[in-house]
Amino acid sequence: MSYQYKWPIYGHKNLLKYLQETISQDKLANTYLFYGPRGLGKKLTVKYFAKSLFCEDKVTRPCGECKSCKMTDKNSFLDLYTLGKDQDLSVENIREFLHKLSLSHVSGEKKLAIIYGIDSINLHGANALLKTLEEPPKDTSIILVADSISNLPATVLSRCQLLKFRPLAIDDMESWLENYNLSKEEKNTVINLSFGRPGLALTMMEDNLEKFKKSCNFIVKLLSGSTFYFMQAIDKWFSVLKKENPGAKLYELGDQTKQYLDLFEVFLRDLLWAKLDRPVVNQLYESEIRNMSTSFSQETLIKNLLEINKAKQKIKHNVSPQILWENLLLSVK
Ligand SMILES: [Zn+2]
Repeated sequence: MSYQYKWPIYGHKNLLKYLQETISQDKLANTYLFYGPRGLGKKLTVKYFAKSLFCEDKVTRPCGECKSCKMTDKNSFLDLYTLGKDQDLSVENIREFLHKLSLSHVSGEKKLAIIYGIDSINLHGANALLKTLEEPPKDTSIILVADSISNLPATVLSRCQLLKFRPLAIDDMESWLENYNLSKEEKNTVINLSFGRPGLALTMMEDNLEKFKKSCNFIVKLLSGSTFYFMQAIDKWFSVLKKENPGAKLYELGDQTKQYLDLFEVFLRDLLWAKLDRPVVNQLYESEIRNMSTSFSQETLIKNLLEINKAKQKIKHNVSPQILWENLLLSVK
């Protein structure tokens, strides 16, 4: 039966079409593996796949109105089994899940088992899973979801139909962002800084870009203030961080500043672009960037962009993040 599909998902056109056809033609694979970096829409696709599979409507899938749709939304539909959302993928949890799956009857036509975060599975867990992947219980399909497959054993991969999620093209990001009330500069900045990942864009936009702007203002102040000013500002920043995270190890404190480090890198690159008369990425701060760019030399900016990569590595280890930040700013001036 051919249905009309209503999935509010942008990009991944061929992949979605393929999944929808397998539902229409009732030709589900035994096991799918959805993979690709976080924020691309894998979970949303799983959700609409499950809803469309179980929906009772004869025309539109999912209808969103029938009992199955409502129960799938609440994760209480009888033929839907999920693991890995609130539980870790320990061998015990996997065994228990598979046991439950093998004993249960199908109440409708098909059972669907979804395991999230399969990239965190260890070798024992993978071994426990293998037999089920090879021979799933009757009328059962399995979807595994992973951000990356580089650590998954070949024995698991070879038993799955692999579906790779890729970053969205700019056109798709643009049409998706039509749903949000953004200025042209905001929209371009979100597109430039979310790398085709709607999930990242949503995090940026969740408070109307307020947090993003606050972080940008902080970086602008650090970059444009005197040495005395930024040393003081950094000192204040870290005393607040230490107060908020009592007893935190150095790398844990560093972790809290990592997103600022990423943003700092964006600013340095934009300053360089501005000097080279190229379009900047952070269009919301274009005038600040063009103004500031006159006080930095090209050589210093390039040198510091290289330094930042080193700093990102160091921050993962037990190096004082405060000293790291002070050095970064001292050398950029
Ligand atoms: Zn429905």
